[in-house]
Amino acid sequence: MNLSAADHRRPLSDGNHIPILGLGTYSDPKSTSGGDCVAAVKAAIDIGYRHFDGAFLYKNEHEVGEAIRTKIAEGTVTREEIFYCGKLWATKLVPEMVRPALEKTLGALQLDYVDLYIIEMPMALQPGDNPYPRDEHGKWIYYKSNLCAVWEVECHPYFTQPKLLKFCQQHDIVIVGYSPLGTSRNPSWVNVSSPPLLKDAYLNSLGQKYNKTAAQVALRFNIQRGVVVIPKSFNIARMRENFQIFDFSLTEEEMKNVEGLNKNVRFVELLMWSDHPEYPFHDEY
Ligand code: NDP
Repeated sequence: MNLSAADHRRPLSDGNHIPILGLGTYSDPKSTSGGDCVAAVKAAIDIGYRHFDGAFLYKNEHEVGEAIRTKIAEGTVTREEIFYCGKLWATKLVPEMVRPALEKTLGALQLDYVDLYIIEMPMALQPGDNPYPRDEHGKWIYYKSNLCAVWEVECHPYFTQPKLLKFCQQHDIVIVGYSPLGTSRNPSWVNVSSPPLLKDAYLNSLGQKYNKTAAQVALRFNIQRGVVVIPKSFNIARMRENFQIFDFSLTEEEMKNVEGLNKNVRFVELLMWSDHPEYPFHDEY
């Protein structure tokens, strides 16, 4: 597996490749100004990011597309060099709704194709255009979809997913780990009683040893074991920092020690939907 800044792609079984480091683009619309995302994605392309993780639900997919198209027009990258992952939201988990939803994403991006299109969450909500449907009593309206469990997986040193990783490695399946830095700790959707990952003493001590930050160590741990990471930052210095993980490596013992930090702590628990019949996190993976 190549792990250099210039080439860090993992092959996929269909012959395509996915860059092992991508930029997450979810940013709370309440604290993000219009244009922030365009600027961040353009800067990320200049830094060397080639993989972008987005979704129609994030309300900034048009900005991601604008940045990619601008950089293609400038000649900095070609479309083929970019890997874009879009997502199908829970209110579109009906076969006839998939294509129109994908077309909306393509329309927002103004691109001809996405490289990956995933089910954002394996629990369906009432199909329609309201992304968060509730009844007149404020109760969530669930929906029984005919869904094969397809899921992308939270993954970081406090939630290392050993069982799932082993299964996926045996079956040649690439894992994409979201929230690889332990999220933005936004209490509206994150379990903030969980310990902040980047304050971890061991990650920070390894950072000191290698002249890196805890964030860089957390990301390096995952890419070194083949897990794709999509840290989100719209801050140029931190985007650059998160990209500078190809010039050091952890020893075998350090990899084991970081694995040992696992607390089975899931930051994105989505507890408001825990009574959904298809709530995925009651099961061990
Ligand atoms: P991350 O673990 O990527 O953490 C993001 C937070 O960390 C932001 O507040 C960011 O702030 C900050 N940050 C970034 N880099 C550093 C650094 N080097 N040092 C310190 N702080 C840093 O959380 P996310 O939950 O955003 O996950 C990443 C991406 O995964 C999302 O953006 C989204 O694309 C995807 N995702 C998908 C989900 C799904 O349901 N499918 C669920 C959750 C995430 P700042 O921007 O100010 O740097």
